Amino acid sequence: MDLTSPKTIREIQSRFGFTFKKGLGQNFLTSRDVLVKIADAAEIDGGVIEIGPGFGVLTRELCERAEKVVAVELDERLIEVLGFTLADCPNVKIIRADAMKIDFKALIAEEFAGMNVSVAANLPYYITTPIITRLIEDRLDVKNIVVMVQKEVADRLCAKAGTKDYGAISVLCQYFTKPEIAAIVPSDLFVPRPKVDSAVVKMRVLEDASVKTKDEKLFFRIVKAAFSQRRKTLLNCLSSAFPIEKDELARLMENAGISPRRRGETLNLNEFALLSDTILKRLGRE
Ligand code: SAM
Repeated sequence: MDLTSPKTIREIQSRFGFTFKKGLGQNFLTSRDVLVKIADAAEIDGGVIEIGPGFGVLTRELCERAEKVVAVELDERLIEVLGFTLADCPNVKIIRADAMKIDFKALIAEEFAGMNVSVAANLPYYITTPIITRLIEDRLDVKNIVVMVQKEVADRLCAKAGTKDYGAISVLCQYFTKPEIAAIVPSDLFVPRPKVDSAVVKMRVLEDASVKTKDEKLFFRIVKAAFSQRRKTLLNCLSSAFPIEKDELARLMENAGISPRRRGETLNLNEFALLSDTILKRLGRE
């Protein structure tokens, strides 16, 4: 069954009376090349978790390469469709659940004991950033997280300090993973066609964080504060977030080699780590 064919998609739609729900980010992929790129990037060697299988176009590709695929789909109507489209795939398990609520750690322990696991997904656009945040923050025992997202989100995940796309999500992503854009995917390769182009991002999960910091929580508190008001200087952003006098805060920043006049978005991950360790000392937790 060629699920990349718009004709097949229409046939399945009419067989099951299925109409796309825009609110669920249902834009189905119709390019075999892109499916291959996603699956290649996931470097499958054991198990795969897929989020949002839709009609199962990517799921089929994953099933060919994986020992086991667990696909998490929110839309109840698709469970019956997937029973039909994946009838010849013995190594897939479909779970009807919300990817924003499911316990991925427990899922990995229950379904993939002893296996290497990757995540692969053409994500629903309305929740790309929260899902990626969850996948990264949960510190899942996975090798690679490969997701198709809007091009602008992909740019933000990979953005370097000092660029317009650089933000808290870039720091989070680059702290725990090594992200890279594996493919740019034009909007006409989806049915229905979304408004914007997409990109496949491969995030290789790092064994150790990319920079060393003594207090991860404080590091991310500083990052959050630094990007909370992009027009303000870092000093002003931090002074609203920490109970330290501005003068002293300015001195601490200078001690960390960071000018208080700089804006948060100019700091790279190493500088955030330095600043965090300097503020940690002052807060007396060391
Ligand atoms: N994998 C298919 C493909 O590549 O053509 C469909 C991808 S489509 C962009 C996103 C899929 O995610 C849809 O099947 C949608 O129903 C599902 N979805 C939406 N919200 C979800 C959620 N919170 N949890 C799990 N799946 C969700």
